[in-house]
Amino acid sequence: MTLRHSRRSVLALGAAAGLAPMPASAWSQERPERKLGYAIVGLGQYADVILPRFAECRHSRVTALVSGSPEKARRYGAQYGVPDHGLYDYRTFDTIRDNPDVDIVYVILPNGMHHEYTLRAAAAGKHVMCEKPMANTAAEAQDMIRACRDADRKLMIGYRCRFEVGNKEAIRVVREGEIGEARIVTADHGFPISPNQWRLNRALAGGGSLMDIGIYSLQAARYLTGEEPVEVSAIESTDRSDPRFAEVEDTINFQLRFPSGAVANCVSTYGSHHNRYRVTGTKGWIEAEPGTAYGDNTLRLHREWQTRPHAVPTGQNQFSAQLDHLSICVMTGAEPLVPGEEGLRDMRIIEAIYRAAREGRSVML
Ligand code: NAD
Repeated sequence: MTLRHSRRSVLALGAAAGLAPMPASAWSQERPERKLGYAIVGLGQYADVILPRFAECRHSRVTALVSGSPEKARRYGAQYGVPDHGLYDYRTFDTIRDNPDVDIVYVILPNGMHHEYTLRAAAAGKHVMCEKPMANTAAEAQDMIRACRDADRKLMIGYRCRFEVGNKEAIRVVREGEIGEARIVTADHGFPISPNQWRLNRALAGGGSLMDIGIYSLQAARYLTGEEPVEVSAIESTDRSDPRFAEVEDTINFQLRFPSGAVANCVSTYGSHHNRYRVTGTKGWIEAEPGTAYGDNTLRLHREWQTRPHAVPTGQNQFSAQLDHLSICVMTGAEPLVPGEEGLRDMRIIEAIYRAAREGRSVML
């Protein structure tokens, strides 16, 4: 079903989504009255999480699929209502430029392919949503930002937690001083990884647990404090005789120091299950466990010697909120909350963390 909305309602929606109100002239005159179309590139596990969420979107729909398997593309096409002319493989992908039903390309491929497909999408005249981590290296991330800027296309990174009600509430509690001044962040993310997958291949993954799951600890430390680290240190522990870790790291724990003096201790591992964070301030703490899961993130607040469950406001689910956010940005001309530059900041810090672990000393940023 195509959603019809007036220019006034789009502007109101932009404001509701936390975007600055845009002058009427700032958003596209050509096609203000339709849901924007997404092409999903890569039909793997995370695409299976994203695709059903279009049903809850107010401003986004899926209009194309890109897969190496024609059978899979047809099967998913039938399931999600994508017509045959919206089905592509990796060789025919560039012809997507001729498909007016596609506004945004969502890259859900192994990390090492994000750079290539973002460049190809921008060259095809499409806006880009790219999964985390943005790329294998900061240099690739810079290149992706440049390509999208030169093509006058938007680039957003799939940092879904920024659109998740529990994380938004934790950010509010910390930023509004409800636990005093933030002093210590702890953030732990990990899972035991199974063998024989691209996440263990350096060319496709860019690195190990830090690139894949430790990045959630890094993101949490940054978005909860609202600060950028000025110094990092790190220690790596990897059993190189384990065939899973022939090419990438297992555990790499890291510390961040922020300009306010707050510090973060972060876990990143492929050895055990972790999904939580806590911010301790001068007057109390807030914690979430799980903190960055697909659902049911659960908050607890400690103040005045008492620890209580902390209610999470209701709201749109993080996946459809993330998809709609980029659609609204395209329609209104607003900058995404998590643009390519946000992905690049993480890539630069990740490279500093690897360097700190390798050289056994802290690295200034
Ligand atoms: P996956 O292995 O399940 O899917 C990858 C897809 O890419 C598959 O359809 C596969 O066929 C395709 N592909 C094309 N060329 C390939 C190649 N040379 N090698 C391997 N696969 C190839 O992986 P996934 O878990 O869906 O992860 C994809 C991306 O999504 C990654 O960047 C990952 O970090 C990200 N991700 C994000 C979240 C999140 O919560 N934001 C969660 C999971 C994954």
